Amino acid sequence: MSAQRKFTTPTFPDDWQMLPEGSVVDGSRATRDATDAADYVIIGSGAAGATAALHLATAGFSVILLEEGPWIRTRQFGADMLGAMKTMFREMGGMLTVGKAAFPVIQGRCVGGSTTINSAIAWRAPEKIIDAWDTDFGLDGTITNADLEQHYVELETSLSVKPVDDAILGIQNQLFNEATIKLGIRGERIQRYDAGCDASASCLTGCRTGKKLSMNITYVPQSLHKGARMYTSAKALKVESEYGRATAVQARLLAPGGPRLRVVARRGVIVAASAVQTPGILKRSGVKSDQVGKHFQVHLVSSLTAGYHQVVNMDQGATQGFNSTHYGESERFKTEVVSLPPELLAVRLPGVGPDLMRNLLDYRHALNWGVVVRAEAEGRIHPVLGTDVIAYSPTPTDMARIRRGLRKLSEMMFASGAKEIWPSVQGMPTMRSADELKAWDSASLDPKDYGLMASHLFGSARMGPDAKSSVVGLDFQVHGLRGLYVLDSSLFPTNLGINPQHTIMAVARLGAARIAELPLPSRG
Ligand SMILES: Cc1cc2nc3c(=O)[nH]c(=O)nc-3n(C[C@H](O)[C@H](O)[C@H](O)COP(=O)(O)OP(=O)(O)OC[C@H]3O[C@@H](n4cnc5c(N)ncnc54)[C@H](O)[C@@H]3O)c2cc1C
Ligand code: SF4
Repeated sequence: MSAQRKFTTPTFPDDWQMLPEGSVVDGSRATRDATDAADYVIIGSGAAGATAALHLATAGFSVILLEEGPWIRTRQFGADMLGAMKTMFREMGGMLTVGKAAFPVIQGRCVGGSTTINSAIAWRAPEKIIDAWDTDFGLDGTITNADLEQHYVELETSLSVKPVDDAILGIQNQLFNEATIKLGIRGERIQRYDAGCDASASCLTGCRTGKKLSMNITYVPQSLHKGARMYTSAKALKVESEYGRATAVQARLLAPGGPRLRVVARRGVIVAASAVQTPGILKRSGVKSDQVGKHFQVHLVSSLTAGYHQVVNMDQGATQGFNSTHYGESERFKTEVVSLPPELLAVRLPGVGPDLMRNLLDYRHALNWGVVVRAEAEGRIHPVLGTDVIAYSPTPTDMARIRRGLRKLSEMMFASGAKEIWPSVQGMPTMRSADELKAWDSASLDPKDYGLMASHLFGSARMGPDAKSSVVGLDFQVHGLRGLYVLDSSLFPTNLGINPQHTIMAVARLGAARIAELPLPSRG
């Protein structure tokens, strides 16, 4: 009996007993102030931070990772969306922009960062965009497609990147594929970090089978096995510097009484806290440039829900298995499948009271597809009293692209047999046939009338050669402060038009490799 139990109970790389003893300190249990030291201190354990940690630890440096969120283990993941939002989403998913419309900016706040709660999509950046960083922003060969190639390949091998298999597509993805074929538009089977996905369509609550190769079960534990150490529930407050060189990080441990942690950084501090939180850390650390927080960009997302006669079973299949980049170059949007759990679908369905209940009971016949716009608007992150205010308003052109994308999605839905489409756009009626599509032409362009969100975030501490117009230099070092590096998408001069995790990791890997070759930063 016990032998059988041993056989059927899987172990996960994030199980306590699988990790080197003493490699993780849970800051939420700390009772007193502490000090520590390492060659490199890395702030943030998401796509960028975990990638940098693994690279530097493998190269033989001592590394300490500081992560503000808790480490929710694979065996603690459940199907409950609200539970996941409480434990792993920043501000429970309720962090809002300030501007013409308040819409949510969604991020992970846990070990693995947003990768723990994302859909594992792994696309390389369009080569034209990386080329434009050189020509339009003076990156002068710092990040080229040729440089990234090797890093993409290494990531793809170690994180098992593969296209979604037929067996796990699920009906919502098959219908999307059928729609692109019927309408003669290009559709792509999505590539993901996948070690044997069993099609539970629940990537957003964390993968319960450990098959999604997010940072919490890959590069973070792997870094710890290479000798790195980590503090969880440890919020980095500021970087200390002496004679123009970063020397240590001050953090607050998120335990009663707020004990302090100070970690000396012998070779440098790497900020990888995301495009929303990185500017605040830089400001609090005395980086005076007025460029910090500027040029913040996103991919703007809206989605459409539809009911079908046939059973769709949105909870079966890869969470996101198909997308279409057909309009990517010409109109700066892509369309994609986004499976939603019932809790999130409920807010997208029409009706109240018994009508809403009836529609919810019809969950098995509903699906949700999204439009992702490479928005031209630029916002600004304002770090204010320890919080990060996101000032951002889409431009009228961005909204016209959202509207156009939603219209295209409606065409795709009817082409694949939708019975009804429920636009979550103020003033837009439920649509029951393709004859009604023209209603989109007169739909509002006011962002307040749309259900918008963003989770692809860029550019608030841009890289560039000139300290007057950028924050991070071509050596990944903050202008004017030696030994302080930025490796997340804050340094990207622009957004990408494609899901960013893969590029963020490739750039972080490239940056970590360059940093490892630098001599010890000197004082003053
Ligand atoms: C729901 C969702 C789905 C997505 N789906 C995809 C997808 O399928 N494919 C894709 O390419 N992209 C996807 N993305 C986007 C992708 O996950 C992010 O672009 C990527 O993870 C960003 O990497 P990062 O390292 O900059 O930030 P994150 O991965 O968000 O990590 C930053 C980490 O830093 C920590 N941190 C912040 N401030 C501090 C501080 N002061 N002290 C200590 N730690 C701190 C945070 O808690 C967080 O854990 C998705 C995002 C979300 C939210
Ligand atoms: S869809 Fe696949 S990768 Fe996503 S949570 Fe389910 S099993 Fe894991």
